[in-house]
Amino acid sequence: MTEQDRPDPRQSGNRYDATEGTERRDDQSGTGREQAMAGAIGAGSPQDIGQDSFSATTESLQHTMGHDRPESGSYTFPAFDSHHPPEKDLIDDCVHCGFCLPTCPTYVLFGEEMDSPRGRIYLMNKGLNEEAMNDTMVRHWDLCLGCMACVTSCPSGVQYDKLIEATRAQVERRYERRPDDKAFREMIFQLFPYRKRLRLAAGPLRLYQRFGLDKKLKKAGVMSRLPARMRAMEALMPKLSKKEEKIPEYTSPTGERRKRVGVLIGCVQQVFFSQVNSATVRVLAAEGCEVVAPKNQGCCGALSTHAGREEESLNFARKTIDTFERENLDNVVVNAAGCGSTMKEYAYLLRDDPEYAERAKKFSSKVKDVSEFLQEIGPVAERHPLPVAAAYHDACHLAHAQGVRQQPRKNLKAIPGMEVKEIKEAEVCCGSAGIYNMVEPEPAEELGERKAKNVLNTGARMIITSNPGCMLQIQASLKRLGHEMHMAHPMEVVDASIRGEPVESLFR
Ligand code: SF4
Ligand code: SF4
Repeated sequence: MTEQDRPDPRQSGNRYDATEGTERRDDQSGTGREQAMAGAIGAGSPQDIGQDSFSATTESLQHTMGHDRPESGSYTFPAFDSHHPPEKDLIDDCVHCGFCLPTCPTYVLFGEEMDSPRGRIYLMNKGLNEEAMNDTMVRHWDLCLGCMACVTSCPSGVQYDKLIEATRAQVERRYERRPDDKAFREMIFQLFPYRKRLRLAAGPLRLYQRFGLDKKLKKAGVMSRLPARMRAMEALMPKLSKKEEKIPEYTSPTGERRKRVGVLIGCVQQVFFSQVNSATVRVLAAEGCEVVAPKNQGCCGALSTHAGREEESLNFARKTIDTFERENLDNVVVNAAGCGSTMKEYAYLLRDDPEYAERAKKFSSKVKDVSEFLQEIGPVAERHPLPVAAAYHDACHLAHAQGVRQQPRKNLKAIPGMEVKEIKEAEVCCGSAGIYNMVEPEPAEELGERKAKNVLNTGARMIITSNPGCMLQIQASLKRLGHEMHMAHPMEVVDASIRGEPVESLFR
């Protein structure tokens, strides 16, 4: 498309009342076309749609497109630049049936069309055709958890995962966030993907917990005066063990070698949940795998990918491929759901990179979630009894993004004495969702408490889940409701069973 063919967004935008500001939730009736669109997408009325006017004021444009930011391509859509905007073909796959709505956590919470997958896709279409990126649009996209429940429930196979990822990258590149929001997000991304920095932060945290400063500060009323995001971060802090467990670079298999596998130890997983990595390595070795945990591995890029920080995430992906490629592995095994789903996506993420596109394809084809991998190779190590009722929580990036649902359940049910309880509304996200519970604490808290109540209703003694973020979120939510529950990763449970540990070892 040439520059002349480009639609002038200001012309279409002028159909709206530019005097009303950026968001219309009053009694305006909208144009006939808007009403038709609202009907087509199933919105009850045009008022259900966050109708942002494209007021062509310089101020608005500067605000929504970001001061001084270069466009990424020569052709610009009203809301997007030409570097991977949400694809029109994928948008058009949505037939507006609404089957995804009851499984979308934000639609369940707010009952607002624009906070449903269908509404967000509608806004992407508007961004492609007629409306500049604006605060309301971005707000509806920001509120999406990226849980991918809509991908699972969509009968038309809409690839919402690709759409929201493309949209988020555009938002991060083109939208000027408020300085405090920007600074908070930057702080998260300068800390969490780096093990060394996390370790530096973990030291004072251990002291903070050991001396009970959290309780003292709460008692003094300091906590309640903190901003909601800081309070959320504090509440999500894991109870840190005295020492991080070191993971050996090479571990020999028990008995004959069946596979040579690499293990991602991760960032948050290693610093806050190193016992999960130790258990994973032991289980793999017991099942006949030679395990390689490369020392110089870094972040896989999952957090950055899900937040639209494209360049950063691609650099993490390239480095991860470089690191594991050297080891001549049959598989790369991952025990954190969010990391596994991103590593399986490298082939797509690096599709434009001439040096990495083919290598990423090969790499992604080797990536397996650890539960999936164990089911594929079949168990050989003996399982000892663990008599306990445990609720299994599906991490969204395992169940919805990777389609791994039955494998963890099968691994757990193979343990004599273990009763696996199902949680009501299993498909609804717990509110963790990467950095979501830190940047959107209010809806995350609501979702967390909803999940915690459903977990408590199972009557289980412990909860098992495959994602560090879910563990922290559910634990914090239970605590707010005045409860505590033992938590474990499936590999900690399988490891305890293989080693013949008493069930109480899981309750420490
Ligand atoms: S990813 Fe989750 S929160 Fe986002 S639209 Fe889909 S179901 Fe809703
Ligand atoms: S279920 Fe799929 S096709 Fe139907 S509205 Fe949702 S995203 Fe669109």
